[in-house]
Amino acid sequence: MTLTTYKEKRHFEKTLEPKGKKIASGRGPLRFVVHKHQASHLHWDLRLELDGVLKSWAVPKGPSMNPVDKRLAQHVEDHPLEYASFHGTIPEGEYGAGTVEIWDEGVYAPMGAEVERAEAEKILRKQLSAGHLSIVFLGKKLKGEFALVKTHFSEKSWLLIKANDEYAKK
Ligand code: MN
Repeated sequence: MTLTTYKEKRHFEKTLEPKGKKIASGRGPLRFVVHKHQASHLHWDLRLELDGVLKSWAVPKGPSMNPVDKRLAQHVEDHPLEYASFHGTIPEGEYGAGTVEIWDEGVYAPMGAEVERAEAEKILRKQLSAGHLSIVFLGKKLKGEFALVKTHFSEKSWLLIKANDEYAKK
């Protein structure tokens, strides 16, 4: 996995965002974070730890706990693991200029598979390349099963959909 695009887009002498140096992968459950990013357009960034980076999607309307809502999620470049704890202001003129706050965070896993990290990553890697993630969030706001599904509209367009479980809200 590469952070080349992430690094190319940013001037680290101007932004306080992490430089993306290689750090060791964590242990235990895989982490996720959702940033609320007030850039030129407000959006939410869903980031999933996988293979030593944060796989990232920009969700213009934000995640929904209602299974009826299909939220567009634009697949964007991998972010460094350290980005999971980043919040603050990206200066004007820089990529993504605006404020970033942590909207939700926690751990996640492939749906229906109680497996350790390496096996979970293997499953998720497959699902990612197949364009259909079926995952369970254990966050403060995001809870239970979600699908993240690649669409045919464009290469980068995915949909984030809450599954109909006991955490779903109408
Ligand atoms: Mn963003």
